[in-house]
Amino acid sequence: MAIYLDHAATAPLRPEALEAMLPYLTERFGNPSSPHAFGRAARAALDEARERMAARLNAEPRELVFTSGGTEANNLALKGAAWAGKARGNQIVTTAVEHHSVGHTLAYLEKFGFEIVTLGVDRYGRVDPDELEARLGERTILVSVMLANNEVGTIEPVAEIVRRVRSRRGILVHVDAVAAAPHLPIDVRVLDVDLLTLSAHKFEGPKGAGVCYVRRGVHILPQQQGGSQERYRRAGTEDVAAVVGMAVAYDLACAERETVGPRLRRAGERLARALAAEPGIERTGHPTDRLPGLVSVVVPGIDGAELVMALDLAGIAVSTGSACTTGSTEPSHVLTAMGYPADEARGALRISLGRTTTEAEIERAALEIRAAIARFRSAEAAPAGSAGREPVRLGRDEADARRLDPVREAP
Ligand code: PMP
Repeated sequence: MAIYLDHAATAPLRPEALEAMLPYLTERFGNPSSPHAFGRAARAALDEARERMAARLNAEPRELVFTSGGTEANNLALKGAAWAGKARGNQIVTTAVEHHSVGHTLAYLEKFGFEIVTLGVDRYGRVDPDELEARLGERTILVSVMLANNEVGTIEPVAEIVRRVRSRRGILVHVDAVAAAPHLPIDVRVLDVDLLTLSAHKFEGPKGAGVCYVRRGVHILPQQQGGSQERYRRAGTEDVAAVVGMAVAYDLACAERETVGPRLRRAGERLARALAAEPGIERTGHPTDRLPGLVSVVVPGIDGAELVMALDLAGIAVSTGSACTTGSTEPSHVLTAMGYPADEARGALRISLGRTTTEAEIERAALEIRAAIARFRSAEAAPAGSAGREPVRLGRDEADARRLDPVREAP
């Protein structure tokens, strides 16, 4: 059986969520906007899920907009707030390590006259609140910073950033909490944010479901037109089953966090130590202020994408932090922003554990990763055609099949 250590990309749907979803994919199929009994049953499930999610986030149910995932929620928050705030100003402040669903959305807004200020980060991937505050101006309408980074696990100083932003008037704060949500408690009142993004499939809920929290009184313009669903903020019939599954998964993730978190942290640290025994591996991200169970490293001189493929053949599913394109590998924008030169950043590897990961899986993964790195190194050191050394090579068919994959990016 292959070992899955890519929970930061997506986590398997937990059985309790699936079970809660099934009736809404079968006999309770009603449209929640229909007035009849079928519709009312679906509406009741949607309402209950909204209340459950809101309670866990310390939000009001009406402050949650259900979306098709993190990407849509980020688009809605950023475009919605930008267009609604255009009369007040046109500047948006963000960081260089955001997920592309934030970075590319802001790049899109730039084409329409918004000015995007992108802050650099330190070696650990952290933005400096002083620098951020210094860039806030009269025209700033929005600040967008992630709670934790999905590639290297670094937790951003969001509380301090919000404090600085609150010393000014009229600037909204958006937080992408997608990577953080499986691991860190999120209380929108404590965080004191205006907009916040969640994605269900990262916390063992279904894919294609997410939340855009919009603080009461904050006006955003809807980004798709149609019906009056989600209080006119997101038109379209809600995916009732997915929302129900999301609420169950988030409830359980919150209830179990205090027991699962420390276990993941210990397991992650053990894995990091085992990998550190291999010479030349450097851990990336903040040494302490980081998500539990996410081990990110660079292995200079080795192509992370090739390493991921070799590990896949060995039955270990991990990822690189970088964007892969056919025939060439672009280094990760996160590692590049952290100051890693392109050749080092290309050696990125991310191993992310989950609630169901076992000790035995971690042990085997550590052995396989070290063995694969050693094989790459000896292949590199061996002169061409030399006997006795077995360079790591994919089978031709497999290698070709993978190269034919369309352009893909690490989730
Ligand atoms: N933000 C972050 C930090 C993420 O890691 C991801 C998923 N890779 C997203 C947003 C997008 O979420 P979704 O996959 O639900 O569109």
